[in-house]
Amino acid sequence: MPAVSPDQVTDTQSQSLEIEIDDAALRQSLNADLRDSLRTITLALVVLFVIFTMRHLFLTAGAVGRVMTIASVITVALLLALAWALKRWHLPPKYAHTVIFGLAMISAGDTLLHLILAANPLQTTNLILIVVAVGFLCFSRLWWGVIVGIIDVSWLIAAMAVRESFTEMWTHFGVALISSTVVSFIVHMARLRTFRRLERLRVRDTQQQAQLKSALESTEQFRRSLQATIGIARYISSILDLDELLEQVAELIKRRYSYHYVAIYLLDETKSYLVLWAGTGEVGQARKAEGYQLEIDGPGLITWAARKRRAAGADDVQKDGRFLSTEDLPDTRSELVLPLQLGKDLLGVLDIQSNTPHAFADEDVRIFEALAAQIAIAIENARMYHRERQRRLLTEKLYDVGQALSSTLDLSEVLEIILAQLAEIVPYDRGSVMLRSDLVGGDGKALVFAAVRGFPEAANPLEMHVPIKEEDVFLEMARTQRPVIVPEVERRSDWEYLEDLPPARSWFGVPLILADGAIGMLSITRERPDPYTDEEVQLAAGFAGHAAVALENARLYDNLATAKLDLEETVAKLEERTEDLRLAYAQLERLDRTKSDFISVASHELRTPLTVLKGYSQILLGAEPIKKDEYYSQLVAGMQSGTARLNTIVESMLDMAKIDGRALQLHPESISLAMVLASVAKSLQDVLKQRSLNFVQEGLSKLPRIEADANGLRKVFYHLVVNAIKYTPDGGTITVAGRVLPATEGYYAKGGVEITVQDTGIGIDPHLQDLIFTKFYQSGEVALHSSGSTKFKGGGPGLGLAIAHGIVDAHGGKIWVESPGHDEETCPGSTFHVQLPLTARVLLEDESPEMAVDHTVG
Ligand code: ADP
Repeated sequence: MPAVSPDQVTDTQSQSLEIEIDDAALRQSLNADLRDSLRTITLALVVLFVIFTMRHLFLTAGAVGRVMTIASVITVALLLALAWALKRWHLPPKYAHTVIFGLAMISAGDTLLHLILAANPLQTTNLILIVVAVGFLCFSRLWWGVIVGIIDVSWLIAAMAVRESFTEMWTHFGVALISSTVVSFIVHMARLRTFRRLERLRVRDTQQQAQLKSALESTEQFRRSLQATIGIARYISSILDLDELLEQVAELIKRRYSYHYVAIYLLDETKSYLVLWAGTGEVGQARKAEGYQLEIDGPGLITWAARKRRAAGADDVQKDGRFLSTEDLPDTRSELVLPLQLGKDLLGVLDIQSNTPHAFADEDVRIFEALAAQIAIAIENARMYHRERQRRLLTEKLYDVGQALSSTLDLSEVLEIILAQLAEIVPYDRGSVMLRSDLVGGDGKALVFAAVRGFPEAANPLEMHVPIKEEDVFLEMARTQRPVIVPEVERRSDWEYLEDLPPARSWFGVPLILADGAIGMLSITRERPDPYTDEEVQLAAGFAGHAAVALENARLYDNLATAKLDLEETVAKLEERTEDLRLAYAQLERLDRTKSDFISVASHELRTPLTVLKGYSQILLGAEPIKKDEYYSQLVAGMQSGTARLNTIVESMLDMAKIDGRALQLHPESISLAMVLASVAKSLQDVLKQRSLNFVQEGLSKLPRIEADANGLRKVFYHLVVNAIKYTPDGGTITVAGRVLPATEGYYAKGGVEITVQDTGIGIDPHLQDLIFTKFYQSGEVALHSSGSTKFKGGGPGLGLAIAHGIVDAHGGKIWVESPGHDEETCPGSTFHVQLPLTARVLLEDESPEMAVDHTVG
């Protein structure tokens, strides 16, 4: 991993422009230059001394020539040996001056020898050359001084030794040597300065280049590392499975940066533990398998970083107090832990361990922080994807379950399907559907097992009632409308164990909720204390909703089916009764017909003897002997009034028989109702007087004439007024009023009239107000009736109103009574209404009144 960031590259460049080159470095550089020139100088000297050797051999005469030739040959040999050695071995620069000194001394020695042997100051020229050359070559003042000093002093000694007389020549060469020394010094100083400056620049340039190169290398490494990180970030963003994502991330980081161990921990739901989610190598796998987790408040670098929400690095774990050594990772030397955060939310941590100390530079921390942010986003994405997928699967699963549940309406089948589907969603050892007992005819204070699965046969739970107590899990569920999980049943002291059932280890209850509350619950038991997963809980809760609806539907359907059966039974019974009634009715009808026939026959049969009786009594009344005798006259008169009354009754019976037999003959004509009522009033005049009753007539004279049967209507009003007389105590009032009815649709298309007969009598019970219009109806005890036809509460055959009804009906009119009720004390009175059309309507044979047609009689 590179330790240089882009920022640092810039820093390095700016620093390098101000590099101070110290003397030692400069001297070393100059020495190196000198060292590099040594072979060339040596070889140049070889050439020079070969020339000298030739000259000494051929031109220098005598002993001097021989000695000098030998000296030159030795010098050449020495120089060649040096040249060879310089080529063969790498001479350290610091010895360059020593070698130069040696070369200068060999050359100077050779020249001085020649000077001494020849005793000729001309030989000094070589020394001058050597001095100048030293000035040119030696950039160290010490060496320059030593070489020039030795040469100058040696020349002086040689000159002194060989001089017989200090000639002008010697003086001249002495001055030349001193001058050359001065020149050499000046040249030396000038060269030294130039070389130093040049060298400084060169050294600086070299150093800059070196630094630039290193910076470039660092940048390149940094770029590559950044690219690797971006690569990881990009790669992980495409993984949507959380486990795979974290394992890949850990593995990639370990591989790309060659770390020792990389792990990723995620915060658990309670936010109190960091759970190892991925770890590299065998250690990681082993730890994951054992469910390795760290308490967030516990010791260690990892939990420290999680608590502080910032990167934690230990350059040397042995010196970092926060580091917690573990047996399975003994080689860790440095560690970097980075929190994985999304905004302010901590998701987990990324732990990187290296087996070398100081493995993480600041730049690494920065890069890994950026990577940690990317990992956090990828984790969130994976979790969101997972949640979304879960939701989709859940919906699909619930849809299938719903389909299965709605496939039948049979309650026992629904219960079986519920338990079968439940087992697929949440595998269980024992499962049951428990319902509130009031749903199955109980008091609702207990739960009953509606269906069970996985129960031992001996247990027979379907017979059991589990009382609902306070603090009960069922009540808790009913209140919160949420499932309840009891992971370890044994830990709940209030847990009720059912007889004959092996004890449960873990329990999971899901309420069955409908609009009006919890109708029961799904009870799931496992014999191992397995944790129920979030997915199972969610599925079970959703499933319970479907199950509750399916149960309710089945229950309603069941009720409906029962109700239908009941109804069918009732209908059958009713039909039976209807048949009985029909038979009874037919019998009654037959009896009624017999009765009507009897009335008809009897009235006809009675009529003949009655006419005879009437005729004879009439004759008797007119007979002289009777007339003379008052006593017999009274007897005959009594016979006559009895006969008359009997005649009235027989008439009524005949009318009734005609009405019953639909043989009533109407003779409509234009009549005045005022006249009809006047004749009725007249016939009852005496009775009204006798009973001190007021008879009032209102608006009758204003009534129009109507088409009707005068005789029939006389009978109608006769019966009504007679009744009014009968049921009104003495001194009461009978009011007969008439009014015109406006023309309306239907019967009264041409208008009509209404006559009301109102009395101040004893009134009629509302529930009898229809019944009194049926024939033979009489209220009260027949025996109690007063026998007089017009006496208060006098008796009658019970035909008056039936005849009135029949006649009005035959006219196409309506008759009814209104009365607040029957009371002989307060006498609330009754009002009989008779409505008649202006034009008479004749009821044709076999025609109901509704079907009657206008029948104007001209
Ligand atoms: P009846 O021959 O007995 O008068 P009706 O058919 O005329 O028979 O009357 C039937 C019954 O109606 C009577 O017995 C009586 O109870 C009741 N009723 C008729 N008219 C009146 C009335 N104006 N006030 C009270 N009750 C009456």
